[in-house]
Amino acid sequence: MFRVNEDYLKLPGSYLFSTIAKKVAAYQEKNPDKKIIRLGIGDVTQPLCPAVIKRLHEAVDEMADAKTFKGYAPDLGYQFLRDIIAENDYKQRGVAIESDEIFVSDGAKSDSANIQEIFAKESKIAVCDPVYPVYVDTNVMAGRTGTYDSATGLWSDVIYMPCTAENNFAPEFPKETPDLIYLCFPNNPTGSTITKDMLQEWVDYANKNGSVIIYDAAYEAYISEENVPHTIYECEGARSCAIEIRSFSKNAGFTGTRLGFTVIPKDIQTPDGVMLHSLWARRHGTKFNGAPYIIQAAGAAVYSEEGKRETKEQIAYYMNNASYIYEGLKSAGYTVSGGVNAPYIWLKTPDQMTSWKFFDYLLETANVVGTPGSGFGPSGEGYFRLTAFGSYENTVEAIDRIKAL
Ligand code: PLP
Repeated sequence: MFRVNEDYLKLPGSYLFSTIAKKVAAYQEKNPDKKIIRLGIGDVTQPLCPAVIKRLHEAVDEMADAKTFKGYAPDLGYQFLRDIIAENDYKQRGVAIESDEIFVSDGAKSDSANIQEIFAKESKIAVCDPVYPVYVDTNVMAGRTGTYDSATGLWSDVIYMPCTAENNFAPEFPKETPDLIYLCFPNNPTGSTITKDMLQEWVDYANKNGSVIIYDAAYEAYISEENVPHTIYECEGARSCAIEIRSFSKNAGFTGTRLGFTVIPKDIQTPDGVMLHSLWARRHGTKFNGAPYIIQAAGAAVYSEEGKRETKEQIAYYMNNASYIYEGLKSAGYTVSGGVNAPYIWLKTPDQMTSWKFFDYLLETANVVGTPGSGFGPSGEGYFRLTAFGSYENTVEAIDRIKAL
């Protein structure tokens, strides 16, 4: 008889966003006349920009012509896209990353989920708490996290780095030394960032202890403040300890078209000279058949002059929502953070309400949907996430309803 991978059975409960969807659907069924506004999910709402659409159409036409038709894409990505990324995201920032250190993929979810495969099963992982759930769940699936304590919501073999108001939502060095450190800035869910000096300390820590930092920079395009690093490779020594994961989802609206990349510098090596770069290349070669040509062509258009201008406008649109949410909640007496370098606003629930109690309260009184902070980890309890990805009109209406409560 077949047996299943029992590590999968250890995953607790249902996925956070399915639980939310069920609750909202039940409320709507009971209250069919109410207009519910969703500021919960992290999906974009603006259509792809004209420069991207134009390139998509052209690339589709290329596929119809025997002379320009493309079959399997190179599994590490088309050279034209790897070159553009290396030039725009790294060289122009004065950062030394070569195009052959860039691995094009179908998005940051897959890469941040899969990257753990190239590390030893006994590797000790450290994560921020609260955290994007993919990092822990994929290590659970890999049998790396020990046992789950449903009372605390913690795994016995995971090192948690609480990020709360007390430390300004920035992780502190753990007592126990991790092998892998997951960092995500600008952060989902808290919307926080750390300065270049603070990130430099993490790079120094990783190099000193022989740890690898997995740096999720999916929200890099939302950075507006000067002293916030756009890439971990702005820090000295990051080439020997840091993997960076990027996405086209939030900077250019590719959530439905799917494109991302991971950077693995050749300098990250074991003492006997095994390069993580080689292992990831081998993994891609075996398990990934390349992102589609038309999508990579469209991704390159994001870096054209029009593409840069148009995607900047989209980000400005979302960040205008973010500031409406931030200012509106603040004026209503809420304690809020995030929303400056990130499309996420993180608020303290009022009157000591639990995150889920506040979720119900907001749904029932304002008909607004957000995300309970506790869904991202135990230190998210007592917090709540709103996102700036809605339309401006809905965002204004939602916040005005909350202010009127
Ligand atoms: N990383 C973080 C921190 C995210 O919040 C998300 C999506 O919400 C992703 C990765 C996934 O990005 P992608 O759409 O490229 O898979």
